[in-house]
Amino acid sequence: MDSKKSQAAERARQLRKQLNQYGYEYYVLDNPSVEDSIYDSLYHELKEIERQYPDLITSDSPTRRIAARPLGKFEKYHHHRRMISIIDTFCDDEAYDWMNRARTYAEKNLGAGMIERLRATKYWLDDKMDGLACSIHYVDGVLSFAVTRGDGFVGEIITSNVRTIPTVPLRLHDDPIFSHGETEVRGELIMTRANFEKINAELEKTGQKTFANPRNLAAGTVRQLDPKVAASRPLEFHAYDLLRDNAAEIPTNEFAYQKLRELGFKINPESHLENTFADAIDYAHRFRTEVQPNLPFNTDGLVIKINDRELYDALGIVGKYPRGVIAYKYPAETAATKVQDIVLSIGRTGAVTPVAVFEPVQLAGTTVRHATLHNADEIKRLDVRIGDTVVIYKAGEIIPQVQQVLTELRPANAKPYNFEAEMRAQYPELDFERPEGEAVWRVKNLGDAKDVAVQSIVHYASREALNIEGLGEKNVTALVDSGLVKDIADLYMLKVGDVAKLDRFGEISSSNLVLAIQNSKAPALDRFTYGLGIRHVGSKTATDIARHFQTFSAIRDAGVEELEQVPGVGAIVAEAIVAWFGDEDNVEMLDRLRVAGVKPSETRDNESDLPLAGVSICVTGTLETMSRDEAGRRIRAAGGEFQTSVGKGTTYLVMGTKAGASKRQKAEELGTKIIDEAELLKLLGE
Ligand code: NAD
Repeated sequence: MDSKKSQAAERARQLRKQLNQYGYEYYVLDNPSVEDSIYDSLYHELKEIERQYPDLITSDSPTRRIAARPLGKFEKYHHHRRMISIIDTFCDDEAYDWMNRARTYAEKNLGAGMIERLRATKYWLDDKMDGLACSIHYVDGVLSFAVTRGDGFVGEIITSNVRTIPTVPLRLHDDPIFSHGETEVRGELIMTRANFEKINAELEKTGQKTFANPRNLAAGTVRQLDPKVAASRPLEFHAYDLLRDNAAEIPTNEFAYQKLRELGFKINPESHLENTFADAIDYAHRFRTEVQPNLPFNTDGLVIKINDRELYDALGIVGKYPRGVIAYKYPAETAATKVQDIVLSIGRTGAVTPVAVFEPVQLAGTTVRHATLHNADEIKRLDVRIGDTVVIYKAGEIIPQVQQVLTELRPANAKPYNFEAEMRAQYPELDFERPEGEAVWRVKNLGDAKDVAVQSIVHYASREALNIEGLGEKNVTALVDSGLVKDIADLYMLKVGDVAKLDRFGEISSSNLVLAIQNSKAPALDRFTYGLGIRHVGSKTATDIARHFQTFSAIRDAGVEELEQVPGVGAIVAEAIVAWFGDEDNVEMLDRLRVAGVKPSETRDNESDLPLAGVSICVTGTLETMSRDEAGRRIRAAGGEFQTSVGKGTTYLVMGTKAGASKRQKAEELGTKIIDEAELLKLLGE
């Protein structure tokens, strides 16, 4: 086994063990120790390893089974129709990919009739309720027994508790078909948030153990051995499926929901039919902002099912997921990722700020690559080490924070981070001090904070940087002394009237100054990068970096390794850049610059001479000779535009291997030329 693979094997082993433990706490003990999004990101990491190295899959992998084995308190029941999982998708592309896989499957395995039905099918939508699944069996219209999902094959019989739930009819309303013979009804047992809070408050008052969330309360209640306790807690049952041995009796999900309502069940009033998959996805976007926040119970997304049930059954199951249904979920506010490095940034005031560099991870809809660790005390408190898996979250809008370390996933050789030693090693030429009563280390003899601010603003305005007339040292000192300006972002907030009040400025010179500043809002990328005053980034380096990355966001998001690919940028410069962009003060200042309307342009030299001038390219799937990021860089370097989705202006779509079909479909619709990797290399001039 090569070393990369053996590392992956070790990581997979650790992830399996930890996920199985979390699963046990969640499903069996009804007492989870981490949030779902943390479980999900670790699960996703394991799945990715298993995708890359299928021979590392083991039979005890949590990706192989649903939920957990029953606890053994209740009698067991073998479901005669398996209770399955639903695939999670977190964005439109993932959702379309899943549905396109169903299409491919149909084209290969089903007849023309089914393919046509798939093209024409509508979609049934319902809330993905965050409770627990329950199956209730009726014989000749009378409730016979109720079972939990368990591991999907075997559940626990919880009839006496379910009988206490008012939304569960003990006898079905009369119906010529469904109140005869055997009828199975599936649905979600849930607790509303209001009831959850009320019950937790009561438990707390009497000194009893409280529940982590409404789902656990629902699960804990229904698996109570004493039905009197269950009856005292207001559980609800919301039905989502109706089953009969003769499946033809229920042609569509629309029919099933309508019938469930007639038979006496509660169904979610917002569940409904959409004509096309695209309409369903549109609704998923609206659901998040308009519907979900107003629901009285927790949901973790939307379920989108093919309406035609015979077709749904014909499409079958892949792994543990049916092909005909998806859960459309929303980006999480917390996630787990690995710390690749900890770098130190020296801010404008000389404060030394540690910044954690991560394996890129999706958080609240953006890719996060680093987060501030604040100071030495915070590193000690968290005991965060290079190699650790950490939980990160978004505080407010922009700045990600590290919440905790998952120590169970720590590699054996991870050493505690020695802040002071690292600081002295990374900056051997500087002297540091930690002023009494302060948590931060600072550079000694840096000079007065005001001088530092003045210098950085003068640098920003200097001829090689933004070249703003009227911001020489004397004027800037006057502005800083007056308190009007503390950093470069404040420049853009200056008003003529305020400046004119200062001794040095008259009416005319202050309006000239404000105008000059306002006129600098679209600086060239290299000049702006240089003007930020990042340690080790002189004007030549700034130009090289700008040419390489082409956009400011690409520079801001680049990791150490990506930066090192710029000619002349070594580890020290790359780390200084990453550290600068991870420093909370800088993040906040850049945000104020953005709000003020400062937008570095994407200038290129002799643009029209470059081979891909005026050409836009989107890449999908995996390329053989380079990563997608690298393709983006090379396309940009050749003067082209690199796009992440296919649109009207896209010239070429490059199809790599394992590409989903959604982009190809869009390209075909728009008449975009579709090419392969060899043709891309040719376009790049190779
Ligand atoms: P799943 O995501 O595969 O979804 C299937 C379930 O969705 C059904 O059994 C049903 O209960 C439910 N559902 C809700 N509304 C529905 C509707 N309208 N139609 C059909 N089904 C509906 O379920 P799973 O396999 O139990 O899910 C795994 C989830 O459990 C993940 O979200 C994961 O984060 C969480 N989990 C968390 C931890 C933890 O430690 N925090 C541990 C294990 C699992």
